Amino acid sequence: MDSRKMSILKVKPAMPEPIVKHVGCAHYKRRAKFVTPCCNKFYMCRYCHDENEQHYFNRKSVTELICTECDTRQKVQDACESCGVRFGKYSCLICNLFDDEDKKQYHCEGCGICRVGGRDRFFHCERCNMCLPVQLQRVGHRCVENVSRANCPVCLEDIHTSRIPCHIPDCGHLLHRPCFEQMLKSGHYACPTCQTSMIDMSHLWHYLDSEVEATPMPPEYSDYKTTILCKDCHKVSTVRFHVVGLKCQHCGAYNTCQTNGVRNPHYMAERARGQRETPALARRAAVALPRLHPRPHLQLRPRPQPTRTGVESYRVQTRSMSRRRPDPC
Ligand SMILES: [Zn+2]
Ligand SMILES: [Zn+2]
Ligand SMILES: [Zn+2]
Ligand SMILES: [Zn+2]
Ligand SMILES: [Zn+2]
Ligand SMILES: [Zn+2]
Ligand SMILES: [Zn+2]
Ligand SMILES: [Zn+2]
Repeated sequence: MDSRKMSILKVKPAMPEPIVKHVGCAHYKRRAKFVTPCCNKFYMCRYCHDENEQHYFNRKSVTELICTECDTRQKVQDACESCGVRFGKYSCLICNLFDDEDKKQYHCEGCGICRVGGRDRFFHCERCNMCLPVQLQRVGHRCVENVSRANCPVCLEDIHTSRIPCHIPDCGHLLHRPCFEQMLKSGHYACPTCQTSMIDMSHLWHYLDSEVEATPMPPEYSDYKTTILCKDCHKVSTVRFHVVGLKCQHCGAYNTCQTNGVRNPHYMAERARGQRETPALARRAAVALPRLHPRPHLQLRPRPQPTRTGVESYRVQTRSMSRRRPDPC
C-alpha cells in the first residue's frame, strides 16, 4: 500500500498543470482550493476531500483558501486579495461555495444551503423545511414536518445536503431518486416510510381483480372474511378473504394489511344472532390459515409482460408523475 501511495505522490508534481489550464475539479469550476481544517490539506471541494479521506469535510468549517491563479493563501473571500481573480462567478460565503458554472444557484435561508435550479422556480415550505417547485405552492402538497432532514429511508444516507437527486412521492416522504428506481426495479412500489403506493398502481390492481376472479378460494374458505386497513386511503373495510390479495372497498387498492385474523362464517353467524363476544368465541373466530398465503399484500409484484416488463411500464408513468426538489450544489 505504501508503494502505491508513493507512486501517486510521484505522479502529482508531474501533472502538466501550467500547460493545460483546467479550472476547478470534476465537481466545480472554481479558482480556489480550500485549506481543510480537519486534516490540514488542500482540496478543491468537499467531494474531492471525501473521496480521498476517511472522514467528512464540513465546508462551513473552512477559514482559509488558496488562489489557484497566484497561489496566495488567504482568508475566505470571493475574490483574490493578490491577483483580484474571482474564485467563482457564483459565490456564497455562507456555504463557502464558488462556481463558474451557471446552475442557477441560490442560497436558501430556510434550507441553510445553496441550491441549484433558480430561486424563482422554487419556494421554501416552512413545515417541510425544504425547497419545493413553485407549482406545488399553487396546487398544494402534503406537508411532512421537517421531511428533508431525515435520511433516505433506503440507503440511510443524508438527503438534505446530498447532490444525489431526490424523489418526492405523493405522500411527501423523500428518498433518493436512484434508491427509488432501485426499489421499483426490485418490485417494491410502496413508500418505505409510510407504505403508501409511490406510483400509479391501477394497472396492477385491475390485473389482480382478474386474478382474484380466476382463482376461486377452496369452498371451505370461500365465506371467510377479514378486516383490512388500506395503506393508500387509510380506510378500513371488511372483505372476503383471498390469497391473491385483499382489495380495499373504498379505493380499490390491494395495498392493504389485515387488522385482525380471518373470521370464519360461523362466528359471523353467531354475531348476527346477537351472541355476546366471549374470549372463547373470539379465539374460534380468529382462524389461522397457515397453509394459505399469510401476508397476501407482499406478493403484489407486477408480472413481467412479453414486450415490456410491468415495472418498466410503471416507470414510464412514474416519470411524468415525478416531482423534484432543487438539488443542493
Ligand atoms: Zn479532512
Ligand atoms: Zn490570486
Ligand atoms: Zn449558500
Ligand atoms: Zn429552502
Ligand atoms: Zn410543505
Ligand atoms: Zn438513498
Ligand atoms: Zn411516504
Ligand atoms: Zn383504499
